[in-house]
Amino acid sequence: MQAAPVIDLRSDTVTRPTPEMRRAMAEAEVGDAVIDVDPTVDRLEKRTAELLGKEAAVFVPSGSMANQVALRTHCPAGTEFLCEADCHIYHYEQGAYASLSGLIPRLIATDDGTIRPEQLVGQVHASDEHHPRTGLLCIENTHNRWGGRVQRQDDVVASCQWARRHRLATHLDGARLWNAAVASGTTVEQLAAPFDSVSVCFSKGLGAPVGSAIAGSADFIREARRGRKLFGGAMRQAGIIAAGALHALQHHRDRLEQDHQAAQQLGAAAASCDGLSIVGGRVETNMVMIHVDRPEPIGKSTEQRDGGGGTPAAELVGLLRERGVWCFDTGPATVRLVTHLDVTAAQVSAACEAIKQSAECLLTQGAK
Ligand SMILES: *Cc1c(COP(=O)(O)O)cnc(C)c1O
Repeated sequence: MQAAPVIDLRSDTVTRPTPEMRRAMAEAEVGDAVIDVDPTVDRLEKRTAELLGKEAAVFVPSGSMANQVALRTHCPAGTEFLCEADCHIYHYEQGAYASLSGLIPRLIATDDGTIRPEQLVGQVHASDEHHPRTGLLCIENTHNRWGGRVQRQDDVVASCQWARRHRLATHLDGARLWNAAVASGTTVEQLAAPFDSVSVCFSKGLGAPVGSAIAGSADFIREARRGRKLFGGAMRQAGIIAAGALHALQHHRDRLEQDHQAAQQLGAAAASCDGLSIVGGRVETNMVMIHVDRPEPIGKSTEQRDGGGGTPAAELVGLLRERGVWCFDTGPATVRLVTHLDVTAAQVSAACEAIKQSAECLLTQGAK
């Protein structure tokens, strides 16, 4: 049997730079961005700030560093910040806010990733000496662990107004804000407008090999540059990678619509299968969060579940992998597929077929 090329739907970070992007990177004008200026980094920072409607921006190596530098710049050690219980800052950044900056998260649980403004009432500590000070509200758009969900902007605006009334700063984790803007037919500027600071990734759906940015007021970004240096993220001839990000901003934003359509196709294929459903009932951007409804076999230990083996989700991931489709399970019963610019239309169709075959296998195998 001829081995078909892998259809890699693990994340939108797996993309390779296109030939045009590589050319832009190879030809980038560079300088020492730490001593004085790298002209390409400078252009990227200005362009990013302009797109996001903020005074300034700073280029950083990763989205995690963007978030962590922003948090630290907003809050002195010992401060509490509010965030949604399933957010990336809390789940996937190793607790860096605590280990690197002495910050304390206060989690707000939701059933779809959207904090409702009324949930914020009473979340600010009284200013007496028993409590940490509450200093910041963080919101994530699109929401990763909730399957690429777009935040409802009226809730976002109301939450940020509440924060301002209570003298809290506001930060938007907009790693996939580009997707949110395309999906909701608006601009990243509008989505970022209620926030003091925003982080965005160039290395996710936009397809650049490296890089993220923080945007905010000129004063805030000046301070964030200090934080970036402290964390070891000040880079020298970074114009090489900034050129990839600039190219992505110019050429890969509008095409995100194609990724969203591909995700719709995958979602429809999954929803048509007995035993599979879509978390939250619908696909909104470039992620498909599949719920595997088959009950877990009785008697599996927690360790086996946490190890990723033996769960219905891990089984579905295994069956898909046998059919050349790579993806991740994000819980015992959830599997995540992410579309991106390196997936062709033919691969999307093939992946739909693989999903249907795998669901069929899950049903006929039953609990092993
Ligand atoms: C990927 C991601 C990040 C972090 O990006 P890295 O570049 O992988 O560090 C932050 N927030 C969200 C919502 C993400 O999906």
